[in-house]
Amino acid sequence: PETVGLVAAGEVVDRPASVVKELVENAFDAGASCVEVVVDKELKSITVRDNGCGIAEADVLLAFERHATSKITCGADLERITTFGFRGEALPSIAAVARVELKTRVADAVGGTLVRIEGGQVVDFRPVGAPPGTTVTVRDLFYNTPARRKFLSSPRVELGRVTEMTGRLALGRPDVAVRLESGGRELFRTPGTGLAGAVRAIYGEAVAAALVPVEAEGAGARLTGFVGRPELVRTTRRGQTWFVNGRYVKHGGLTAAVYEAYGTLLPAGKHPFFVLHLTLDPGFVDVNVHPQKLTVRFDQEREVLAFARGAVKKALFGRAV
Ligand code: ADP
Ligand code: MG
Repeated sequence: PETVGLVAAGEVVDRPASVVKELVENAFDAGASCVEVVVDKELKSITVRDNGCGIAEADVLLAFERHATSKITCGADLERITTFGFRGEALPSIAAVARVELKTRVADAVGGTLVRIEGGQVVDFRPVGAPPGTTVTVRDLFYNTPARRKFLSSPRVELGRVTEMTGRLALGRPDVAVRLESGGRELFRTPGTGLAGAVRAIYGEAVAAALVPVEAEGAGARLTGFVGRPELVRTTRRGQTWFVNGRYVKHGGLTAAVYEAYGTLLPAGKHPFFVLHLTLDPGFVDVNVHPQKLTVRFDQEREVLAFARGAVKKALFGRAV
């Protein structure tokens, strides 16, 4: 079982950024309105703190058991997954390859619970005073799997990935206040009041001032978000973000639809900035929810892409085209 645990762990968590992703998505699933990510400069310690529902003492150890998820109770639930997690793999996977401390309290419980797990072994479990919500600290990722540790890049590069991931998570849930701190320095803090505020917090005032809002409904879908004015076009593809039903995805067709909307406004070799949320009936979209895959398929792909292109055009040109 030891080997199985370590192999499976590689699927969910391969670097600090994927630890952050799993922990922050758990915080979102817990209904948190406030999520804080704190890392040290060397990425030896990753802490995610939330003010969500917490975990009852009786369930704390269960949360670290493989395929123990509180989020799916019957097969039919699989059809309409609204939470980010549902496999019950993240916590056990992380705990198998790191030193994990989880402190949690359900709001109406008298006290909280602390558990420490190292390399899959419970080394501490006791009642503790704690604010409502959950704080998870992951230290020494891959300390017991040197072969995996070798695949990590320099702390600077890994921090870049953590920053990009945290920003992406925050843009995906702009109703939640998300804060990122590294080495005692705050990198950003979104207000939790909507996408405009989140974009400003993450990309800065200059970018925020050069955006036009997108807001459209059609083809059974809804598109909201921001695209850069033509003068904001960039030399890289960074700053291109598509969310489908709240999940970050990479979809060549959706991205091409944005490029097509810009048309001749986009000089060769230049790339538009955008943050777009597409919402549609979950029955018409198949998001591949494998932890490392970000793909999506639509039942009415042509219609959806045409709708997206038209909506972005309308935002850029101020009229229906
Ligand atoms: P999944 O998210 O797929 O259910 P995880 O391994 O990520 O699996 O988490 C296991 C369980 O632990 C969750 O189903 C949830 O009940 C609980 N849990 C994890 N993180 C939190 C959190 N931040 N707040 C409340 N409950 C949590
Ligand atoms: Mg999860």
